[in-house]
Amino acid sequence: MYRGRFAPTPSGDLHLGSLVAATAGFLDARVSGGQWLLRIEDVDVQRCKPHFESSILSDLERHGLHWDGEVVRQSSRTKLYEDALKKLYSSGHAYSCFCSRSKLEKMHCPRNAEGEFVYPALCRPERIEGGRDLPDIGTLKHSLRFRADVLPTLFNDEWHGPQSVRVSEEAGDFVLRRTDGCFAYTHAVVVDDFLQGITHIVRGMDILPLTARQIQLQKALGFDTPVYRHCRLVCDPDGQKLSKSASARALRETPAQLNLSNALKLLDVDLGELVGAPVLEQLSYATSVWRPKMKIS
Ligand code: GLU
Repeated sequence: MYRGRFAPTPSGDLHLGSLVAATAGFLDARVSGGQWLLRIEDVDVQRCKPHFESSILSDLERHGLHWDGEVVRQSSRTKLYEDALKKLYSSGHAYSCFCSRSKLEKMHCPRNAEGEFVYPALCRPERIEGGRDLPDIGTLKHSLRFRADVLPTLFNDEWHGPQSVRVSEEAGDFVLRRTDGCFAYTHAVVVDDFLQGITHIVRGMDILPLTARQIQLQKALGFDTPVYRHCRLVCDPDGQKLSKSASARALRETPAQLNLSNALKLLDVDLGELVGAPVLEQLSYATSVWRPKMKIS
């Protein structure tokens, strides 16, 4: 059975780009007769704010995007992330890292296109022995990293076609749990998608570069890889990526039915006379013409 999800981080309001991804995921799930779950990705409690969560929830409802079941919050799932990390550590896929950001900065550690350090594996042991137990995770004062596979990770994105990413060059051994105890998004998302039985992931193009890491983690944990579709980013008329705050403001200040019409237009749904119609009418029409593999131009 199709099971999709929308997984916003409540560190800001919903913007047109996230509305496009949410609408595409919602339509895919409805057309497939499946479920569309809502997970609040507040694993980084410092960055996330409850008022953003409430506004995201009310914005989804305002746009007619009703999710199935209870809202799941990452902030209440720490134990699950710990269990998966223990498994990775004892199978030799994870190791302790004592490098600080300032150390990496001082040594002019290279960065990738997203500005992240490509970790030069300074703390990686020659050989990682399996069968080790991770000491009490809560007390650790260092980070834990995943030993990235040197082979390219191959996967298919349903909208963008075959992808090949060499994680060891794009990111190096990436962080699973930070020094401050916070689990990395990459780790939490893989655990949650598996435990929630997610079969299809529809999300913004900005996450495409992180997908190969998630697939490496899934393999190491013995999880199936879901189907991926990354929606193109929403740009302003000059082709620049929309600024999150300006776009969020615009979404808030514009009637929901117009926002939804804009989102559906970006998804190549021709609403004809239904542009600006009540959201449920637009969604009902969009559901009647939407094909799960519809290619977005
Ligand atoms: N939490 C991420 C965001 O709001 C989305 C992650 C995902 O869909 O995998 O950008």
